[in-house]
Amino acid sequence: MINYELVIKKVRYHRIMIKNRKVFLVTPKKLRDPDRLIEQRRDWILAKLGQMEKVEQEAGKMIDVPLLRKEFGERMQDRDGVKKELKQRISGLAGLYADRLDVEYNRISIKDQRSKWGSASMKGNLNFNIRLAFVHEDVLRMIVFHEVLHLRIMRHNREFKSYLKQEFVNYKELCRMLRYYSYLLM
Ligand SMILES: [Zn+2]
Repeated sequence: MINYELVIKKVRYHRIMIKNRKVFLVTPKKLRDPDRLIEQRRDWILAKLGQMEKVEQEAGKMIDVPLLRKEFGERMQDRDGVKKELKQRISGLAGLYADRLDVEYNRISIKDQRSKWGSASMKGNLNFNIRLAFVHEDVLRMIVFHEVLHLRIMRHNREFKSYLKQEFVNYKELCRMLRYYSYLLM
């Protein structure tokens, strides 16, 4: 039998969700036989858990995963504090990169979102994800550089990438780390 947690929530249909290697059955109402629903999807669940285990093992080579989860859980109790501190760190880096790339930005916002790490608008506003407060310093630098660079080059074209690769010798490694962070924090 697969261990799972039943969550009753306002959703249209029931569905199975896996997060942090835990299985949840999310459903709009009490179910007559929830165990059966889980059993029916047994192969899919086990495959998914296996995949996740593998990713975590890989991530563990670069990132202290338990420490990351602990810090994230604790510090996110004070979101405003995290935001404030991150904004300061990012402002310093953005100023530096803006000078170097000869661009100007308008303002920096820290967003609590689960999709993007950062974005740059046509008006020169830069947005960054609050979760950047928990990533490796070099990964943070890469994201800030990336968004500031967008003020010069909008698209992810060859030139854009060549700037990044020039600035960060371990660019590929940082991208891989970022993918792990997406998996662990988003
Ligand atoms: Zn981009």
